[in-house]
Amino acid sequence: MSCIFCKIINKQELSGILYENNKFIVIKDINPKAPVHLLIIPKKHIPSVKEIGQEDKELLGELILVAKEFAEQKGLKGYKLIINVGREDGQIIDHLHLHLLAQ
Ligand code: AMP
Ligand code: ZN
Repeated sequence: MSCIFCKIINKQELSGILYENNKFIVIKDINPKAPVHLLIIPKKHIPSVKEIGQEDKELLGELILVAKEFAEQKGLKGYKLIINVGREDGQIIDHLHLHLLAQ
């Protein structure tokens, strides 16, 4: 498996994991575009939103909830949640992830 996020999830690649549960990890983006820039990553390898299915409904809801709980914990008043979809619009890692950005 050559996916960098799967390697981080499986601890084959070093990374400061900020939070982990049975379905997600949260890490700091290595190349932050804002003072707070986190990535919420489902452990399930789904290449992108293009590949999600009905069976992922619950996981996707939980993805937003993890982001919300993190933002609350950090005391963020406002933030952006972004999912890039497809190489054509900026997705460079083919493992679904949610960006949390804040000032
Ligand atoms: P995307 O363009 O949505 O695919 O975003 C991928 C993000 O992952 C980029 O913002 C990268 O800076 C970030 N990134 C790539 N490799 C790593 C890594 N090893 N640890 C943390 N963030 C990474
Ligand atoms: Zn992966």
